[in-house]
Amino acid sequence: MKAKTHTTGQEEGSQPTEMETKLGKLFEEELRDIYWAEKALTKAIPKMIKNASSTDLIAALETHLTETEDHVKRAEKVFEIIGKTARGKTCEAMEGLIKEAEEIMEESEEGVMRDAGIIAAAQKVEHYEIASYGTLRTYAQTLGLDEAAAILEKTLKDEKKADEILTTVATSAINLEAAEEEVSE
Ligand code: ZN
Ligand code: FE
Ligand code: FE
Repeated sequence: MKAKTHTTGQEEGSQPTEMETKLGKLFEEELRDIYWAEKALTKAIPKMIKNASSTDLIAALETHLTETEDHVKRAEKVFEIIGKTARGKTCEAMEGLIKEAEEIMEESEEGVMRDAGIIAAAQKVEHYEIASYGTLRTYAQTLGLDEAAAILEKTLKDEKKADEILTTVATSAINLEAAEEEVSE
């Protein structure tokens, strides 16, 4: 990342506001990254739903789609708190994870196999989000942005829960069926 030159009055010895600090800058960058990722997911999850067969998996994805729409709004609220315009920045990691999910869906046989693939891809997404929100929440705490930290913590909990539900869906039926069925190619 290219370092931006400060145009604030730090040279004159005045204290930078929290968002003018290096950590503040990192916080804003990370927020823009996850904001882009969440918006991309509001388009990617419906494709996963369309490709899924298991009613449990479809239900889990539908619930998380609604949550993801909330995550977008919460991120916008955090931008508002820090006094910045809500502006996403392409998250190449999420772009790659979504691309992989699409590949898996194209290449796998419809049914338990594709469902297992969707779960694997979705869990990779959740883990990326868990890492991002954990970081963002911790930055917010350090910066003294208590309200932002609480909002980020809420989303972090949703992501952890979504990951757990996906594990349950996988281990309760889909993986077991996939382990029994022969590949029909
Ligand atoms: Zn999310
Ligand atoms: Fe990213
Ligand atoms: Fe998520």
